[in-house]
Amino acid sequence: MTELPQAKVFIEGRYRKLTRDLPQTVFFCPKCKGHPRRRKKCEECEGFGKLTRDSVQELIGWVMGAALKTRKNKFHGAGREDINVRMLGRGRPFVVEFINPKVLTVDLAALEAEINRRNDGRLELEGLHWSEKGRVRVLKEMQNAKEYAMLIEVDGQPEPGVFEGLVGKRFDLEQKTPQRVAHRRADLVRERWLEVLSVQPTDEPSRWKMNVRTQHGTYVKEAITGDEGGTTPSITQVVGLPCSCLELDVLEILDAEGESIPVRSAPASFGQGV
Ligand SMILES: [Zn+2]
Repeated sequence: MTELPQAKVFIEGRYRKLTRDLPQTVFFCPKCKGHPRRRKKCEECEGFGKLTRDSVQELIGWVMGAALKTRKNKFHGAGREDINVRMLGRGRPFVVEFINPKVLTVDLAALEAEINRRNDGRLELEGLHWSEKGRVRVLKEMQNAKEYAMLIEVDGQPEPGVFEGLVGKRFDLEQKTPQRVAHRRADLVRERWLEVLSVQPTDEPSRWKMNVRTQHGTYVKEAITGDEGGTTPSITQVVGLPCSCLELDVLEILDAEGESIPVRSAPASFGQGV
């Protein structure tokens, strides 16, 4: 018996993540992988199969999947941020691929409003429109510089003016693959740039706000800590005291050179009856 090719639809947009408890895609339990049978006796997740209640993918997929009458979907982001990193600014581009939808006459603007209403303060979508398969690869291959806001903690009393003196400086970093990702990335030294855009003191003398722009693929937390010598130079090295990143927000996703990207969108009615 030959199988019919599966029908797929692609919906594109941008998301903003306003909380520090939301992974981008379904966070399956690393032990049982969410397997329907194995998860029942799993001690890691106590049978839940996942380590978080929801994700950007699920909050989008539940509402859109109900309208399209399919539960099967794949989420493709233009990169991703860690669970505890907020995604602000104009949001991160994504495409969701729905497999075998039974309904195609859906109002994307209404779905966008519904998802935003249900997830007030956690997740915001913008610019939902019908898209196509080729966009998945475009998003995956995009080289994006990024602008970040950070809350930095310094362990000790820095020399007066040392943080203020970082503003406008550009650092050419050499970064080894950090330990936290070494199990899934090749161990090599990469060259990446980082520019300090602004520095502000806070009410706590040991804490500073810092905005930076970094090249695609920079390990930004390690650029602060120095990753025990794995990243040089680092803010820790330049300040001369151990520094760590307490909070991180992505403020903007830029093009490879660090310039703004024009927003891509099409009328929500495009693709009717695909
Ligand atoms: Zn489990």
